[in-house]
Amino acid sequence: MRPLHKPIYLTVAFEQVGEPGKSDRGFDLKYSREENPTVRELERKLRGLEGGKETLAFNSGMAAISCTYLSLLSKGSEVVLPMESYGTTVQLAEELGKFGVRVKLAYPSAEAIAEAISDGTSLVLVETVTNPTLKVIDVSEVAKRAREVGATLVVDNTFSPLVFRPFRAGADLVVHSLTKYVAGHNDVLGGAIVSGSPDIGELWHWRRRLGSIIQPVEAWLTLRGMKTLELRFERQSRNALAVAEFLREHPKVVEVHYPGLKDDPHHETAERLFERPLFGGVVSFELSGKAEAEAFLRSLRRVFPSPSLGGVESIASYPTKSAAKTMPPERRKLLGITEGLIRLSLGVEDADELIEDIDRALGGGGAQA
Ligand code: PLP
Repeated sequence: MRPLHKPIYLTVAFEQVGEPGKSDRGFDLKYSREENPTVRELERKLRGLEGGKETLAFNSGMAAISCTYLSLLSKGSEVVLPMESYGTTVQLAEELGKFGVRVKLAYPSAEAIAEAISDGTSLVLVETVTNPTLKVIDVSEVAKRAREVGATLVVDNTFSPLVFRPFRAGADLVVHSLTKYVAGHNDVLGGAIVSGSPDIGELWHWRRRLGSIIQPVEAWLTLRGMKTLELRFERQSRNALAVAEFLREHPKVVEVHYPGLKDDPHHETAERLFERPLFGGVVSFELSGKAEAEAFLRSLRRVFPSPSLGGVESIASYPTKSAAKTMPPERRKLLGITEGLIRLSLGVEDADELIEDIDRALGGGGAQA
């Protein structure tokens, strides 16, 4: 009997007698910290999503990034990161300073990142869309410079699955927090590394050593979520555009960041990089200060005030208390992360209902509400 869905293999071990069975990757398949068929199915689907040659799935996005660092870096290695990368990605790289790794932080633009890359750089990690101010990085420009010096280019494509293909732009590895759009239901943590080359031996061994493989139930939930990724991403992008257009006209809103808006400074780059005119479910906007931002978050009824993004439920977060919490104030200032900044992740609800909730929380006065 052939099941419609791949079963969840809840087993720690597999039979190993005489000649050990070989998985299709050529490693012994005998222990679920190393390989598991449900995980393998998820990896097959993720490989297809990114158009890569091999994939490893992890129990969080940070587990995938940790494994990437540990596998590729050694004493004396230099890492270049945009200063607006996910906070924990930056912190972890900086912590590796105690093992002799050096970190260079660059302003999040392709030119500044390319300039920071030197002959001594071994790893460059960029997020396609920065968080929370939603700058779009021209990855192909960074790839050219990384290739010149022989550095490995890792692209965190968490914010732009489906629409951006990092391998076509010259990435060596793609990482994801599956927790966000890919699993998509705010109920499971996961991460992945997709490789442009079939040789992932070292990464595989580091995952085994770290014990950071995704668990079978989480792998299955992620597989289920992936079935609707395209539908969700389309709807979320449409909702985000409607909300961004509404916010832009709102008298209480100082500024809106959304690369889907035609007059956003990153629209042109996003349009050029993205294969479809979908710009994701995340919109940021600025209110006049901390008191206004906190009052907004307290007044929401439908949109849930919380960290995270990319799921079916709309979420509002306060970057100075979440994504940018550990960022030094001068860096926040340079990037435009103020105490009045709010980040919204729009879900799949009705756009008019979301706008009504947002307008009420802003104290009313919006054009469409
Ligand atoms: N990369 C990006 C762009 C993220 O936004 C996050 C989390 O917010 C991560 C990586 C880390 O993922 P996780 O929370 O699944 O460990």
